[in-house]
Amino acid sequence: MRLEIHSKAIQWLLHPSPHSRTWCQERVIKCKAAVLWEAHTPFSIEEVEVAPPKAHEVRIKIVATGICRSDDHVATGGLVWPFPIILGHEAAGVVESVGEGVTSIKPGEKVIPLFAPQCGKCSCCLSTKGNLCINNEIGSGHGLMPDGTTRFTCKGKAVHHFFGTSTFSEYTVVHESAVAKIDSAAPLEKVCLLSCGFSTGYGAVVQTAKVEPGSTCAVFGVGGVGLPVVMGCKAAGASRIIAVDINNEKLAKAKELGATDCINPQDFNKPVHEVLIEMTGHGVDYSFEVVGLIETMNAALASCQNNYGVSVMVGVPPAGQMITLDPWLIFMGRTWTGSIFGGWKSKDAVPKLVADYMKKKFVLDPLITHKLPFNKINEAFDLLRTGKSIRSVLVLSDS
Ligand code: NAD
Ligand code: ZN
Ligand code: ZN
Repeated sequence: MRLEIHSKAIQWLLHPSPHSRTWCQERVIKCKAAVLWEAHTPFSIEEVEVAPPKAHEVRIKIVATGICRSDDHVATGGLVWPFPIILGHEAAGVVESVGEGVTSIKPGEKVIPLFAPQCGKCSCCLSTKGNLCINNEIGSGHGLMPDGTTRFTCKGKAVHHFFGTSTFSEYTVVHESAVAKIDSAAPLEKVCLLSCGFSTGYGAVVQTAKVEPGSTCAVFGVGGVGLPVVMGCKAAGASRIIAVDINNEKLAKAKELGATDCINPQDFNKPVHEVLIEMTGHGVDYSFEVVGLIETMNAALASCQNNYGVSVMVGVPPAGQMITLDPWLIFMGRTWTGSIFGGWKSKDAVPKLVADYMKKKFVLDPLITHKLPFNKINEAFDLLRTGKSIRSVLVLSDS
């Protein structure tokens, strides 16, 4: 990694302006990032320029980043975002510099970027019910910072951001509302999972569904996000946790982490929801879809108890696809809902989740199956696509 001092910063050193707070803010950083120039192509490690943080922005040195299926959805066209782009949204790092007006975070502090921000001022942030701050980039998909511009360039071209985080880069810039300060003792190559996978799955159970002790639950898809759903169901005291997956190795892992039953739909010649209804007598109290397919979303809904069952959609719906639904499935009383980032108000919740991890209230190690250097990013995506990894963590620096 090479740092270059922008000519403006040199001018500042020669003729410091009384209005400038620190020369760091004026510096463009050149560093390595994994740029995706278009869908269905490999990531390309490139030298990029990362602009200084503007007002209310924070520039972070990324130490470790996990690979989530949501990144892969963009790479494979299932989620439509503009190219070229720097993906990555599950990470941890250290603040390098801050823009004007940033008071909550200082250079040198350990942080976790938040793909679901928390501005603290919008209707969702002020409501006790919601967690999807209106400043999120998930719904808009424009690939830009909140002010409509980008902080990355590569070979003279502007490069888009992803989910306001773009962590497949040695340095990134995020809005102040999209970063949480965490315990300075936290191991960044582990707690990066609290930036998406673990928090999303665990929160879908304890925060969105609020599963009660004794409940029966089914989890469709037990990968990096589905396994934390299983862990959440266990922590909530569910009496039965049925893992559903087409990969038997994932099912074995689910059993280790608390699943009481494992179902591979390919072992049956009837629809999986019928299997689950037979197993439980009336359907499960709670079902969680953690795959991202219309087929499993429908199956999860049909698997839950017809009058008071709740089905939570955690998997990202595939772009451009619609659901055709028998309205009787809802009319009878089932609830169908979605959960983004586990329903957590991110900036408040993530430091507490890190503190809980430090107090050993839950584990992350069983989810981290691979630790690789940043330049092995394409191998890490192959491991995800071939079903061999749960989470691969890419290590970018020593912190
Ligand atoms: P993953 O690839 O690790 O896990 C998906 C699992 O689904 C795998 O174990 C796979 O074998 C299984 N699967 C595939 N087809 C199946 C089928 N037909 N029936 C049953 N199981 C099947 O992915 P992940 O990182 O755990 O992400 C899961 C989903 O959650 C993705 O759609 C991802 O984009 C989404 N996601 C949502 C949020 C959110 O905030 N809502 C956050 C992170 C990820
Ligand atoms: Zn994710
Ligand atoms: Zn908000």
